[in-house]
Amino acid sequence: AFDVLIVGGGPAGASAAIYAARKGIRTGLVAERFGGQVLDTLAIENFISVLETEGPVLAAALESHVRQYEVDVMNLQRASQLIPASVAGGLNEVRFESGASLKAKTVILATGARWREMNVPGEKEYRSKGVAYCPHCDGPLFKGKRVAVIGGGNSGVEAAIDLAGVVAHVTLLTNSVLKADAVLQRKLLSLHNVTVITYAQISEVKGDGNKVNGLVYKDRNSSEYHSLELEGVFVQIGLIPNTDWLKGTVELSTHGEVVIDERGQTSLPGILAAGDVTTVPYKQIVIAVGEGAKAALTAFDHLIRTSAP
Ligand code: FAD
Repeated sequence: AFDVLIVGGGPAGASAAIYAARKGIRTGLVAERFGGQVLDTLAIENFISVLETEGPVLAAALESHVRQYEVDVMNLQRASQLIPASVAGGLNEVRFESGASLKAKTVILATGARWREMNVPGEKEYRSKGVAYCPHCDGPLFKGKRVAVIGGGNSGVEAAIDLAGVVAHVTLLTNSVLKADAVLQRKLLSLHNVTVITYAQISEVKGDGNKVNGLVYKDRNSSEYHSLELEGVFVQIGLIPNTDWLKGTVELSTHGEVVIDERGQTSLPGILAAGDVTTVPYKQIVIAVGEGAKAALTAFDHLIRTSAP
């Protein structure tokens, strides 16, 4: 059995593995896809101390750093069930879709999250070519350009306010009315370079083959189609934590995130969590890396208090 078993091979899982292995304890890392969301990212300019890099390059660097240590890395395995220890200090079990099963004294959940997509023509084709999901990450790439933000909840309105300070013009489109907090709506409506379009159903992202150059939406009241010319589309219709496999075990928030405390502890002893899968706000690489380190140190702390010498 492992002392620490990490489920997830994104920035949070990689960081947790390195911190755990450096304590000289038996460490395993299982991931469906080592690198996680980072693999889907083109330019990364906010991983502090790395001026600029690309997702696949950073993902390879994370993996080679982990492999510098005695970490048992198991890639291409999807966890399907967590069976917590039945007695205090007992072993936890993680089962996989392949039928495999692993046991560990502590488990770090780092299965990340995924952005909800619009599922319209052009969205996938122009992903990272104008279609973006993270204003903190990609906002500056659209300096002086025209963008749309899709989504009228808090994240959409926050994104529109944020982007309005960077880009030339923001059109916020929502499929019903604005649902964000009143204070955010007031701030949004006070901005001179923002237009809000309600009851808009996005039907297509348009491009020239290389980059986004517009979008088409249907006015849900009149059923008429309209086009907008712009250079970027930020989709803000939700972030889905990868916690389906955890339902009924650790406590989840109303958004499905693993609830953790300031040390990365979940509702179950010896089960920690880190990164985008958790309730920690602001889903970013630099934050996931810090949270992973924290969860590994808490796991070590738990082991020295509960394991026989
Ligand atoms: P993830 O990166 O989501 O990794 C989760 C890991 O868990 C993966 O290995 C996955 O395969 C695995 N996994 C999931 N489910 C299971 C399962 N059931 N069993 C086993 N393994 C499983 N952040 C920035 O800071 N800067 C940026 O420029 C930036 N750009 C982004 C661009 C895009 C297009 C996207 C999608 C995200 C971007 N982000 C950016 C956000 C950043 O990628 C995430 O905050 C970060 O990757 C979260 O790390 P994580 O380790 O918590 O989760």
